Amino acid sequence: MTTFANLDLIEPLRRAVAHEGYEIPTPIQAQSIPLLLEGRDVLGCAQTGTGKTAAFALPMLQHLVGTPAPRGKKIIRALVLSPTRELAAQIDESFGAYGRYLQVPHTVIFGGVNQSGQVKILRRGVEVLVATPGRLLDLMGQGIIDLGRVELFVLDEADRMLDMGFIHDIKRVLRVLPPRRQNLLFSATMPRSIADLASSFLNNPAWVEVTPNVKTVDQIEQRVMFVARADKRRLLAELLHSPEVERVLVFTRTKHGANRLVKQLDRAGIRGAAIHGNKSQSARRKALEGFRNGSNPVLVATDLAARGIDVEGISHVFNFDLPNEPETYVHRIGRTGRAGMTGIAISFCDETEGEYLRDIEKLIGQTIPVARDHAYECPQAEPPPLSQSRGSRSPRRRPPPPPRRSPRPRRPPRSSGPQRPAKPGSQGSANRTPAAGTSPSSDAESQPRHRRRRRPRRRPPQTD
Ligand code: AMP
Repeated sequence: MTTFANLDLIEPLRRAVAHEGYEIPTPIQAQSIPLLLEGRDVLGCAQTGTGKTAAFALPMLQHLVGTPAPRGKKIIRALVLSPTRELAAQIDESFGAYGRYLQVPHTVIFGGVNQSGQVKILRRGVEVLVATPGRLLDLMGQGIIDLGRVELFVLDEADRMLDMGFIHDIKRVLRVLPPRRQNLLFSATMPRSIADLASSFLNNPAWVEVTPNVKTVDQIEQRVMFVARADKRRLLAELLHSPEVERVLVFTRTKHGANRLVKQLDRAGIRGAAIHGNKSQSARRKALEGFRNGSNPVLVATDLAARGIDVEGISHVFNFDLPNEPETYVHRIGRTGRAGMTGIAISFCDETEGEYLRDIEKLIGQTIPVARDHAYECPQAEPPPLSQSRGSRSPRRRPPPPPRRSPRPRRPPRSSGPQRPAKPGSQGSANRTPAAGTSPSSDAESQPRHRRRRRPRRRPPQTD
């Protein structure tokens, strides 16, 4: 078995990972660290939640302290590009955590905040810069950032970058990097566009993969509940009162929906906060901090805002609205059950979302078990089974008309609640989370500029 000790990491890094509570390297770490220490370029297919930040940050730190820059002012020697502010801030905090026993100055820059604080830190000199593309190009344009001495370049979440329309920004950054450098590209999926991008700047890369392109994390117990749209919030409130539900991430499709849900939960006596692109910096920071320290056990989020949120011990993910892109489902439920922990993902499916459910099931290659033991069961919301649904040869069955009101609850509230499976040995190793993510939304927090799938939708796409 690979251990951190036999990965040839220097002692201060081993001490730092021990401080984080990591006992053994995750598969992506065990695969990538030796390659990166050798100086190889790496193309990694891995999602957030697999430990990929340490997979690249540890060897990068080792390289930086092992080959110190000439004396004098610190120069940017490592650049990490990340699509969202939250993810960028978390990566920067990880550099802080893993480099706690080393002297490697690092910082993060992203848009949406005044640049002066960031510029001040940059002028003092940093060796590791984590950035979202917009602010990076902005400060490069102002002559504040010079990337001419970068030795290590990481493109993280490359598929999200492309989804968000950052391809031209990435190319502009690549043009100013010095030709001799070590490159890493991580992406949760590897479509043709990413492979093309990778081959444009990676030099004979080693390929590492820990998750197949799109597979549901198998420690996550998934369930779907059929419920009328009008009853979703009552059902959610009821489930949230269950003692098994500790720290909960709830996904809504829209920002407005997130706000409204938080108010409705509040009226039901449940403390929660919303996080999305329209929230102010301080509101986002407060929401995330409250979620981390447990004072706000429920975080209601839209997809873009939640991307990369890394908070330990998320017991449940609720899909209050089913995503209309099936890949998004995989990303969402990956927020729970991280680094060896079990988690539960419960999806509400109303009378208009049956097609989304079946698309998700096709993508993950399994039928999500139906939980019917709740008070708001709505049989009309259940779509025809996969064999009869779109794409099959049998004629399409029209979904039954949505009920105006759901039937009366079959049993009193509180009797139902998600059951946490008692999986032996499911605790997993400690997955400490650096207290990051306090930064605001990304300059990427905009409507993705293009979509991968084109098909008629019954509902407008995600508006965050
Ligand atoms: P990442 O994929 O980098 O976002 O990491 C996901 C989570 O796994 C974070 O909470 C990390 O602190 C945690 N983690 C990373 N490496 C390990 C490890 N070797 N053992 C346990 N937890 C880890």
